[in-house]
Parts: sequence; C-alpha cells; structure tokens
Amino acid sequence: MSIAKLQQADNQAIAVKLSDITYRYANTAPTLYCENWQVKTSERIFLHGDSGSGKSTILSLLSGITKPNSGSIDIGTSNLSKLSASQVDKFRACNIGIVFQQFNLIPYLSVIKNIELAVYFAKTSVNVRDSLAPMLDSVKLPTDILNKQVAQLSVGQKQRVAILRALINSPDLLLIDEPTSALDANARDGFMQMLMSMEQTRDTTMIFVSHDQSLRQYFTQHIAVSDICQWRTNSKESAC
Ligand code: ADP
Ligand code: MG
Repeated sequence: MSIAKLQQADNQAIAVKLSDITYRYANTAPTLYCENWQVKTSERIFLHGDSGSGKSTILSLLSGITKPNSGSIDIGTSNLSKLSASQVDKFRACNIGIVFQQFNLIPYLSVIKNIELAVYFAKTSVNVRDSLAPMLDSVKLPTDILNKQVAQLSVGQKQRVAILRALINSPDLLLIDEPTSALDANARDGFMQMLMSMEQTRDTTMIFVSHDQSLRQYFTQHIAVSDICQWRTNSKESAC
C-alpha cells in the first residue's frame, strides 16, 4: 500500500493534515487543541518546543498510535479516523517510519531481527539484507552488527539501527522524536549530517521534533508546537 497523494487546487500534494484535533490523556487532564496544520509532500519540518509542550503526543497522533478524541488526521489520502485499529496498524507499518525517543527496539533480539520485524508487519517483499547493505554504509555501521543483540549496542548504534528500521520499507512519511537528546555535541552533529545525507536522495516527508534549537540549521522549515497546538485546561472539570 502506498500513500496516494492528496491533490490541492494548486496541485501541491499534502502529506499530513490535522483538522480540529482535540486530545486528552485522561478526563481531568488538559486538552490538546490543534486546529489546522498541513505539511506538503517532501517537506522537512523542524517542529520545536520545550519539554512537555506536546511533541511526542503530536507524533503519536500523526502515526495513529494515539487516537484523537475528536477531529481528523489525514496522511496522504487516508483519513486515519475512518480506519479500524488493525487498518491503522497496517497503514503505519507500510507508510510511516518512526524513530522513537527511546528507539523502542527489542533488546533481546538481534539487529537484523528487529529490522525484519518492520518488514514482517508491513508484509512487503523487501529483501532485508540486500536493502540494508548500502544503508549500513551510509550510517557507518559494520555488516557484522546485524547479528549482534540490540542490548549490546551503544546509544549511538541503537539510534542508527532505529533509523534503518524506520527506513527499511521506504516510507512516505518519517517521524523522528528527539533522537539526539542522549548524544554529545560531536555525535549529535555527525548523526544529523548522516540523516540528512541519507534523505537527500529520497522523497520522504520528514517531521523531526526536538527541544534543541541548535538543530534548526539542518532544516529549511521551522515551526513551534505552540503555533499549531495549544493545551487548555477544562474549566468545568477542574472547578470541582
Ligand atoms: P514533549 O514530547 O514535548 O516533551 P509530551 O507530548 O511527552 O511532551 O507531553 C505533553 C504533555 O502530556 C505533558 O504535560 C505530559 O506530562 C503529558 N503526557 C504525556 N504522556 C502522557 C501519558 N501517557 N499520560 C498522561 N499524560 C501524559
Ligand atoms: Mg517527547
């Protein structure tokens, strides 16, 4: 399944569209409101905000891992709100690459098994070892790392494996959540250069979230979380 492009009147494809979203973690918790936000195909967005501003929540909504309380989310021409839970899972596996803040790799499995799982869930016919060969080169990892257990890797290696897993199915949309937060300045710059050079030849739409303003230099489009979404307390419920 590939994301068909939603054509606007001006013929520019929309990759992501949030419309009138509300979301809250619990009845008494503040509600997140996002009125309208669109990202065009192939755009590389740096979405920044302080810790707790809602970056991970927004990525979770965009990937369909979290369902909004109201409103709709379109990824390409697919309206996630209209898909069943299993359809959303399948859609995500096929079309969205996610690099989670904590990587979410399975520590007791090997690197190759972690990446093969992404292919298994997408049910694509990707030959993992063949596809990985040039990608390993790009992220400067040796081939023999494929058989290592993830638990034995350094943070920097896990981070690069998480990128490979996110890219293995050639997703149309890449969501990246603060991947550099555990790295020192040198490792952070090396990682960003590697990510950008890998993505140079792809047509992927990328939403990269971070609190770290020094990363904005890698992106041409910058947007603050507070420009697209706001948290509001529910006065009725907080009154009691
Ligand atoms: P960021 O990624 O920008 O640091 P988050 O999206 O993780 O921010 O969190 C936004 C707000 O939602 C915070 O106030 C946080 O405490 C709250 N929050 C995040 N995850 C949960 C959760 N699982 N349950 C309840 N509240 C949560
Ligand atoms: Mg976060």
